[in-house]
Amino acid sequence: MESTSKVALITGGSRGIGEAIVRRLAHDGYIVYGTYNSNPEKAAAIANELKVEGKIAHFKKMDISSFESIQQGIDEILAESGRIDVLVNNAGITKDTLLMRMTEQDWDDVLNTNLKGAFLCCKAVARPMMSQRSGRIINISSIVGLRGNAGQVNYSSSKAGMVGLTKSLAQELASRNILVNCIAPGYIETDMTDKLNEDQRKAFSEKIPLKRAAKPEEVASVVAFFAHSDSSYVTGQVIAVDGGLAM
Ligand code: NDP
Repeated sequence: MESTSKVALITGGSRGIGEAIVRRLAHDGYIVYGTYNSNPEKAAAIANELKVEGKIAHFKKMDISSFESIQQGIDEILAESGRIDVLVNNAGITKDTLLMRMTEQDWDDVLNTNLKGAFLCCKAVARPMMSQRSGRIINISSIVGLRGNAGQVNYSSSKAGMVGLTKSLAQELASRNILVNCIAPGYIETDMTDKLNEDQRKAFSEKIPLKRAAKPEEVASVVAFFAHSDSSYVTGQVIAVDGGLAM
């Protein structure tokens, strides 16, 4: 638990890892803004549940592949709350296939959402964070951004790009006391990995030293650390939350 006056923005907070981050930071006392793209009912249900528990969570529609949509959402949050202390770039998509079958559209969609979306969100919050002389940006990459993965040249490139984005921005913003870090999840149980069949699941789990997939909450707890004052001397880092897979 940290502060009740700090504001956290989590992109893609309506499902999976983002939902777990919204819930965790709300329980840690943040005023939370989650974003959704296509799922307003789910977003409203999460906000209502948290309200019943006495926590503060609002949801905004924001398409992170669109600059206008991001700027409008962030302007609204700043008008309502006056500040943004924590940005979690979590929203992401996959369009997996082998290179020979991958279309230019598959590449553009994934890069525009995952990497350009994170860049645009960083750009939109950097100015208010610089004025505040404090801030935390936490980027959700993936271990495939560190190791690559056949069938995911678009996705793994976007996630490798987030590592470069993290380290460059950490250097640019350190003098303003804005810390930028990255989490590289491994195999986490969400809609994104629901697409795997039973054999693929088994094969993945076998390769993981901890021999299991993670719950989204196990990623959210590392986000909570990067958002908290306990990590005040940590910037430009990538932590794999992967049960030891990428060792
Ligand atoms: P899900 O597919 O479960 O959820 C994706 C979230 O992103 C949803 O909230 C969705 O909103 C949002 N989203 C998708 N497209 C857009 C868009 N254009 N604009 C705004 N929001 C959008 O994903 P996960 O929870 O599994 O993944 C979360 C992050 O973690 C992603 O960046 C992913 O790459 C990364 N990751 C996941 C791993 C895993 O094993 N699950 C492993 C490694 C990394 P809506 O519901 O409204 O459409």
